[in-house]
Amino acid sequence: MFDAHIHLDWYQPNQQKIIMDTLEVDGMIAVSSDLKSCEKVWQLYNQYPKVFPAFGWHPEQPLPTSQEIAQIETLIHKHHDQIVAIGEVGLPFYKRKEEPNLRLQPYIVILERFMILAAQYDLPIVLHAVYDDAVTVCDLLAKHGVKRAHFHWFKGDAATVQRMIESNYMISVTPDCVYEKEIQDLIGSYPMELMMVETDGPWPFEGTFQGKMTHPNMINDVIRKIAGIKELPLQQVVEQVEQNTKKFYRLEKHI
Ligand SMILES: [Zn+2]
Repeated sequence: MFDAHIHLDWYQPNQQKIIMDTLEVDGMIAVSSDLKSCEKVWQLYNQYPKVFPAFGWHPEQPLPTSQEIAQIETLIHKHHDQIVAIGEVGLPFYKRKEEPNLRLQPYIVILERFMILAAQYDLPIVLHAVYDDAVTVCDLLAKHGVKRAHFHWFKGDAATVQRMIESNYMISVTPDCVYEKEIQDLIGSYPMELMMVETDGPWPFEGTFQGKMTHPNMINDVIRKIAGIKELPLQQVVEQVEQNTKKFYRLEKHI
């Protein structure tokens, strides 16, 4: 089993060890959120064979210096053969809710810089782009010819879902599918071959997960929920999701 999206560098070192010692999890896509995060993820990659690194800059934060983005770009140029993706990148949907006057354009400029690199190195891109932002991001992906896109923890309207399916873009589902109707509906309408599972850990989930450290083995609950909604045998979902993740991120090349 693969956790298709986790912020491993945000865990304490002892928690990282607990995660790595779990036999149930074969690997995880460890995304980065800024320059320091890229450096930490790179260290974890060198320490643990289950870590598949991605370099990027998370959009839900104040704008970085242009030097910081340039340094992340340098890391991508240097390690493009070892990283499995560019991410987490995207647009600041939740930050704009808090700050309605926040200018979007500088964030778009940064995102486009990462898309140019994804196209240049034929790397997948891991996107934080929900609701209306997903439409903007679909336009930008088409503009830059980026074909392999993963909209993690996606939420959006039916028209955007349809467009993403037609473009063969991947989504991933988090443990909140156990208690969120919106995500259950998305699982119902999205094709099985374009679906992965993730935790986005250490995100604090609710319901049965309340108060628990977000662990990649929570994807067991996600898979069970998907199997229930899709009315498919559990083992078939396990295999399909694993195959989807390996194929999309070309993990065989890195194992
Ligand atoms: Zn994330």
